[in-house]
Amino acid sequence: MQLVCLDLEGVLIPEIWVEFAEVTGIDALKRTTRDEPNYDTLMQYRLDILREHKMGLPDIQKVIGTLSPLPGAKAFLDALRDRFQVIILSDTFYEFAKPLMDQLGRPTLFCHKLEADADGFLVNYHLRMPNQKQEAVRRFKEINFKVIAAGDSYNDTTMLGEAHAGILFRPPQNVIDEFPQFPVTREYDELMGEILAASERI
Ligand SMILES: [Mg+2]
Repeated sequence: MQLVCLDLEGVLIPEIWVEFAEVTGIDALKRTTRDEPNYDTLMQYRLDILREHKMGLPDIQKVIGTLSPLPGAKAFLDALRDRFQVIILSDTFYEFAKPLMDQLGRPTLFCHKLEADADGFLVNYHLRMPNQKQEAVRRFKEINFKVIAAGDSYNDTTMLGEAHAGILFRPPQNVIDEFPQFPVTREYDELMGEILAASERI
């Protein structure tokens, strides 16, 4: 019995914080874990910036509602779900992903949660658990699934390593260099090809 685990941002949808910063013109939100490696510091900074700009969750969701999945993502995901059970493992938040998940046909998503106050301002974030992508794959293996995983970046590499087969999709060069054991794909038909090949192999 096989299961495909996909990363979300960079694989099916654009990077939400980056797009959000583009659309709203709030450049301060373009900071990523590359600029600020401490995730908690980065998130508190982001929540502060949103509050400074008087953006509560409804405003944020309105902006995210104008974003679209990556071109071809929905067709790829539909074709994939026709052949495999698919679970999306992401480090985004349900509240952010919702408008985009609706456009993708509401596949199963395991991610994290945001906390808003009575006025709708975001006051905190809750990570369900650390390193949840790898942990989820480990648990799926324990309940006897063979797992194929695909993702685009550094935070996916432990998940890819834990899976029976790991595949990179549109990764940055440093990830390609550091993890030569994973095949690199750039288009959805290539990714589908690698998934099908892995499915035969594992
Ligand atoms: Mg990603």
